[in-house]
Amino acid sequence: MTSFSDLGLSPKVLSAVTEAGYSEPTPIQEGAIPHALTRRDVCGIAQTGTGKTASFVLPMLTLLERGRARARMPRTLILEPTRELAAQVAENFDKYGKNHKLNVALLIGGVSFDEQDRKIERGADVLIATPGRLLDHTERGKLLMTGVEILVIDEADRMLDMGFIPDIERIAKIIPFTRQTLFFSATMPPEIQKLADRFLQNPVRIEVAPPSSTAATVEQKLVASKGKDYEKRETLRSIINQQDDLKNAIIFCNRKKSVADLLRSLQRHEYACGALHGDMDQHSRTTILQNFRDGKLPLLVASDVAARGLDIPDVSHVFNYDVPIHAEDYVHRIGRTGRAGRKGKAFTIATSKDTKFVDAIEKLIDRKIEWLDGTPSSLGAEDSSEKPEPRARRSGKKQQAPSAATGKDEPKAAPQQDNRAPRPKNTANGSKPANDDRRRSRRRDRDDEPTPVGFGDDIPAFMLIGAKN
Ligand code: ADP
Ligand code: MG
Repeated sequence: MTSFSDLGLSPKVLSAVTEAGYSEPTPIQEGAIPHALTRRDVCGIAQTGTGKTASFVLPMLTLLERGRARARMPRTLILEPTRELAAQVAENFDKYGKNHKLNVALLIGGVSFDEQDRKIERGADVLIATPGRLLDHTERGKLLMTGVEILVIDEADRMLDMGFIPDIERIAKIIPFTRQTLFFSATMPPEIQKLADRFLQNPVRIEVAPPSSTAATVEQKLVASKGKDYEKRETLRSIINQQDDLKNAIIFCNRKKSVADLLRSLQRHEYACGALHGDMDQHSRTTILQNFRDGKLPLLVASDVAARGLDIPDVSHVFNYDVPIHAEDYVHRIGRTGRAGRKGKAFTIATSKDTKFVDAIEKLIDRKIEWLDGTPSSLGAEDSSEKPEPRARRSGKKQQAPSAATGKDEPKAAPQQDNRAPRPKNTANGSKPANDDRRRSRRRDRDDEPTPVGFGDDIPAFMLIGAKN
């Protein structure tokens, strides 16, 4: 068995690792660290939760022991797609770098430029940044990238999803060609491979698990539900209530708007929960995350972008309130549980409209996911008899792809809710009842769309300037 001391790390780093309580390196750490220490470029591919952060933080700490930083010229740069991830990497430097006197600067949105400028001015050994914020700083002329010896591009697949690649290209151009580049991703689709080819020189490639596998320790189930929001919420509450071993869970939604709606609904039902979404300020995000980690808020409702790669150890359950539209997101979501050999459970609520997405997921992970209690079609009788008309209308149109958006194909004249079975508690309880409401808000608020592939939640500020009003 390989131990950390076989990897070539410095004594200072090794003692911090021991204090952190890690007994042995994860496979990606074992594969990447020795090469990173010889200053080779590394392309590391391993699932979420497999310890990629330490795969670059530990060798960087060792390499940084020689030399010192000069004012305004950081020695290393780590790019992260979101503020949370950047903040987590900074925490890793605190933890593993406790025996080093390094100046670590975190350049993320929501923190004042002045404070960040001061850190840069002092000379940063490590700069951790989101791409947009870094460019803001370089454009202000107070940050020189010509001294950067190591560039880390972390969570590359998410960078691509969020539209950060042009920014990264600009950044790579202002960093010396002679740098060492460490590139990490949870998945390696062809577009990511192309990027890696562009940014890396003669890299060592370390691929740990097949990029689309889900952990064998996660028990996965599909849960059939009728398609209306209140029905899905009811389904969710009932699976949550069935779990005797639920310690903490993340509940994933496809849209920011559903995150907010679901949070409100769960809180009305007196579940202790919080939410993470891209619009929250840094302080609230950190607080929510901390409360979740401390167990004060056992349920966390989140969108993919907000939760990507977050370091939340030991989550017992993942609930997919929506079937993810991109199959890879399923792998990422499920990757939040069943870590480090622990047992985890993942439940995905699926309606009759989700068939296509479920198929894509099963194809990607190369296995069938079991249904908990029958399929959506076995629920469907009442559901489908209710709306023969829109169906006919739909099929008259050109084969419209099944949409994950709810409410679209409800009969216009049918919001006679009272004709039906008694309404569930939550909707009777003063929440928005009618579908009309939602239609109106959909028109007004494009937020209620599936998370776009381009920028996701984190649209760079400059793009919003003209768009706000
Ligand atoms: P990734 O970036 O691959 O998604 P992280 O670097 O965020 O994963 O690590 C996931 C979790 O695993 C963190 O809680 C981290 O503290 C823990 N971890 C990292 N390395 C080890 C190790 N060698 N042994 C045990 N736990 C580890
Ligand atoms: Mg990571």
